[in-house]
Amino acid sequence: MIYLDAAATTAVRREVLEAMWPYLTGDFGNPSSHHELGETASAGVMDARATVADLFGARPSEVVFTSGGTESDNLAITGLALGNPRGRHLVISAVEHEAVQESCAYLERFHGFDTTVVGVDEFGVVDPAAVAAVLRPDTTLVSVMLANNEVGAVQPVREIAALTHGVGAVMHTDAVQGAGWIDLRELDADAISISGHKLGAPKGIGALYVRRRLPLEPLIHGGGQERGRRSGTENVPGIVALAAAIRLSEGSRAAGAARVSALRDDFITEVLDTVVGAQLTGPRQGRLASNASFCFPGTSGESILLELGRRGVICSAGSACAVGSDEPSHVLLAMGIQPEVAQTAVRFSLDSTVTAEQLREAAGHLAEASLAVRTLGSSLFG
Ligand code: PLP
Repeated sequence: MIYLDAAATTAVRREVLEAMWPYLTGDFGNPSSHHELGETASAGVMDARATVADLFGARPSEVVFTSGGTESDNLAITGLALGNPRGRHLVISAVEHEAVQESCAYLERFHGFDTTVVGVDEFGVVDPAAVAAVLRPDTTLVSVMLANNEVGAVQPVREIAALTHGVGAVMHTDAVQGAGWIDLRELDADAISISGHKLGAPKGIGALYVRRRLPLEPLIHGGGQERGRRSGTENVPGIVALAAAIRLSEGSRAAGAARVSALRDDFITEVLDTVVGAQLTGPRQGRLASNASFCFPGTSGESILLELGRRGVICSAGSACAVGSDEPSHVLLAMGIQPEVAQTAVRFSLDSTVTAEQLREAAGHLAEASLAVRTLGSSLFG
């Protein structure tokens, strides 16, 4: 099998499993307990918090552990919007993940907020000037993702953060896809979401960086863990695993991103040269190292996926995050792609272990798969 769906999820890395194992077995204590087992667990969490803080270039007290990217986004949007009495205006981009979009929709429905959605260009990129144009005196929060999960467009987060700060508002970025590939220390955002299972840690663990002294209204109330920002007994094995995964990926991030993006560029060239009608979606430059996404007009993304699956290549038709959705992707539509073309989207997302041979083989299978879908389509409807 050639697994090219790392943006959906990744396998837990062996070193990560080994790091979390003691906290699932002998050292299973609750970090709030005042005995040896509790203290061991608490020390594990403290150590992990320092590692995660370092990823953000932050202090350990600025890290909140969550259950994943979705919760981090919800906590950032809802928690910062409700915690800051400045106003009730939110700004997001048209290509945000549903976790961001739906948090804004919730705030509109139940708390009287108003959201401005800023469009993107044909490559899925937000223009900072377009954000500047919609900022208002009552803008509380701006949220623009670091890298898009479907087309890999990397957004000018730093520039948007500077504009946001210029009017006294708060900037959040969803770095669920960018983490592991891009340095998060340089973003100057006030809040940053990450998710463990995109980085070689298990599902169900994530983190949110929140700049100190920023008021954050909790979503989960209870025993006051995470400095009152996220109650509930800590997921100690998950937290330790997240830190272990970050240590592994950060240790080789720059070299890994350079290697994978070079392989990815070759893959894109090969696909555009050999697959009839293939169109790249997202930017050619300024693209997340791991992403190669295409549309194949005149076919069906789902059918290509099935044909590829038969040939042992695993990838995705757009995003795996919206459960059971048949609608064309809001990201592709925002880029001006016609709905019938958007239905032909296929996303390949690579992890740091990918090889040139795997990508060459996958490109060959893709040429056959798209041909098979076209032949079937024309014999059924031709
Ligand atoms: N944000 C982005 C950009 C994502 O791609 C995803 C998942 O794919 C999420 C948020 C949600 O993360 P999780 O699956 O950890 O809830």
